[in-house]
Amino acid sequence: MAGILDARPRVGYFYSGKNPGTLLAERIRKILVREVMSVPIVVGENVSVYDAAVTMFLEDVGSLFIVKEGGFLEGVVSRKDLLKAALGRTDLQKIPVGVVMTRRPNIITVTPDDPVYLAAQKLVYQEVDALPVVEEPADGPPGKLRVVGRITKTNITRLFVELGKGE
Ligand code: ADP
Repeated sequence: MAGILDARPRVGYFYSGKNPGTLLAERIRKILVREVMSVPIVVGENVSVYDAAVTMFLEDVGSLFIVKEGGFLEGVVSRKDLLKAALGRTDLQKIPVGVVMTRRPNIITVTPDDPVYLAAQKLVYQEVDALPVVEEPADGPPGKLRVVGRITKTNITRLFVELGKGE
């Protein structure tokens, strides 16, 4: 069951040729984004920087996804985006979050059926904390991506802890 031994009729058990490292990699690469993703926390583009910051505290997240009607992805706003917008100003209720967010098409995303390993690679190599999980609905406008989930470094860390239990 660990994959180190394989069985064939009349031959019996034999060494599969796979070392534990290869087996672990195979196991990890089979886990899909949909199995570990969290609920996305979304706001509209006209929400103020102040309200976006309050939402981050209330929802206990570090990134918000900005969506248009129908839940279609427009952008991402991080803690530091809000901090930068707040430096030296006091009118945070007047600045819409759409002004400070990172916008499509520069958003790095994954789909529910992507391997979670790909999501982890994107988080590490693109140096971001969160990825919107998106789907392009067949009946929706072409090119529009609906936000259906969220993958963060926390999801990956949690998965790492679960895998480490070896159950
Ligand atoms: P922080 O800025 O709080 O350290 P991030 O590292 O996630 O958080 O964000 C860094 C920058 O990248 C921010 O300007 C943010 O808007 C942007 N960003 C965050 N997530 C994504 C993403 N999935 N795709 C593209 N840009 C992103």
